[in-house]
Amino acid sequence: MRSDLEKRCLLCDEVISAETDSREHLIPNSIGGRKKVSGFLCVGCNSKSGDNWDSVLARQMNPLSLFFRINRERGDAPSQKFQTTSEDEWVLNVDGSLDLPKPIFKEQKNEKGVEINISARNMDEAKRMLKGVARKYPQLDADELLKKAQAKSSYSQDPIKFNLSFGGLDAGRSFVKTALALISTTGVSVRECEHAIQFLKEKESEPCFGYYYEKDLVLKRPDGVPIHIVHVNGDPESNLIRGYVEYFGVMRVVMCLSSSYAGNAFSATYSIDPTKGKELDLDVDLGLTSADIRKAYDYEKWDGNAVEKAMGAVIGPALKAQHKEERERVLEEAVRYAFANCGAKEGEVITEEQHNRLVGLLWEKLEPWVLNQLIGRHRHD
Ligand SMILES: [Zn+2]
Repeated sequence: MRSDLEKRCLLCDEVISAETDSREHLIPNSIGGRKKVSGFLCVGCNSKSGDNWDSVLARQMNPLSLFFRINRERGDAPSQKFQTTSEDEWVLNVDGSLDLPKPIFKEQKNEKGVEINISARNMDEAKRMLKGVARKYPQLDADELLKKAQAKSSYSQDPIKFNLSFGGLDAGRSFVKTALALISTTGVSVRECEHAIQFLKEKESEPCFGYYYEKDLVLKRPDGVPIHIVHVNGDPESNLIRGYVEYFGVMRVVMCLSSSYAGNAFSATYSIDPTKGKELDLDVDLGLTSADIRKAYDYEKWDGNAVEKAMGAVIGPALKAQHKEERERVLEEAVRYAFANCGAKEGEVITEEQHNRLVGLLWEKLEPWVLNQLIGRHRHD
């Protein structure tokens, strides 16, 4: 118990008491982390580092958190605005649905007259907007227009533009803190990691991390899973404590946490499938020399093609699964809608008239989706 009593906060060096101990997420909760460590940061430093470092990382990773529909322990990933390839703006929610952030009203005058294009978030809004149009252009029959309007389900006609950027020192400090949190679970003192501590505590110090894509360091990488994985190892022969953090199978970082380590050899790995919140059993082959890691600091191990390949390996399968899910969702919704509105009562035999109405209602709901599948991709060719 003595060593427990002497636990000090990594960042402020205050002795951690039962009252000031925090349960720090090893990988930030915001990107789907689950495992927590205690006796690592005091409550104050936990919250400060969350605000300053983890939240920067969370913002950078949010497009991926949304895209992969991560399963968070607390709260949902915040919805985010995206632009489609035709410049429409949509809001992507964590359940994969898309909202228009605001109704769109486009009015274009040409030699034939005025072309009006309305995108509303729901039929009521569409009605209100159409009534406004009818006031402005009395020759239009708003009711007739409304009949032709159809409720479009919430998906975009165009592929969503995906702008992803990551980097910077705040996000870097979040990676390094995560590696140290893993070390704190091994029994090795995080105080051994002089480079890491200096980088976390001193503003002007040299960053001890860099992006690494020269080769895949994860052993037996599972196909199509956007894994989070953290690995650390200490090696008295090279005097190195190395760290590796990878998020969503895409963002890959190596670090040199210490280059004066003389203790026992150790190694630890923690990995998770953030889409399910499930721990995985994976390992990392991180035997890089300090010269190699240093090259990563200088972006010499960055490789655009490898990044693209890593993205494709996880985004492709997810798109396929989401497409299937969307199809099932649309079908289910259409069936529910059609039954609810065809006039049939539960438990009764359906009349021919109700049956015909049912088919009509089904098609009404399915048509936009089917059209979207058929022509969506070619609309702007
Ligand atoms: Zn502290």
